[in-house]
Amino acid sequence: MSEIYVGLGSNLGDRGGNLRFALRQLALRSSLRLRQVSTFRRTAPVGGPPQPDFVNAVARFETSLAPLEVLRRLQDAEARRGRRRRIQDGPRTLDLDLLLYPGVSMDETRLTLPHPRLHQRRFVLEPLAEIAPSLPLAGGRDPRQCLRALPG
Ligand code: AMP
Repeated sequence: MSEIYVGLGSNLGDRGGNLRFALRQLALRSSLRLRQVSTFRRTAPVGGPPQPDFVNAVARFETSLAPLEVLRRLQDAEARRGRRRRIQDGPRTLDLDLLLYPGVSMDETRLTLPHPRLHQRRFVLEPLAEIAPSLPLAGGRDPRQCLRALPG
């Protein structure tokens, strides 16, 4: 079993409901067990066109699935919530990212691990600091140390 971290975001429709849908959907089968969820946070969009605020959270799951199988489950949940990608970095009903899979480091277009922008995103680091304050990230730094290193 591996302990993985998933980032969740939504800025269209019932944003909190979309995140709860994803958590339920992912945990439907026993191959992904939901262990912990951060509080849901309202965050300003980063980049892209003008768009509504996001609701973001991070969840920890225990899984027997391989990384690409996890990614497929995340994309399946996104598709079920009717995610459309018409505009690059535009508003989305549901965005799910595989942030960390222990012991796995890979750099492919379809899956990069750890998630390449994890350490730069306040909306990921803050909920991660809440549920996994000692988790070693890039260079052995924990989420709070990564937060302190962010500009502004
Ligand atoms: P986005 O539109 O930002 O959600 O990006 C989705 C694309 O990123 C998909 O084609 C995924 O295959 C790819 N991708 C690469 N690494 C990851 C990751 N760690 N988590 C989720 N998607 C990823």
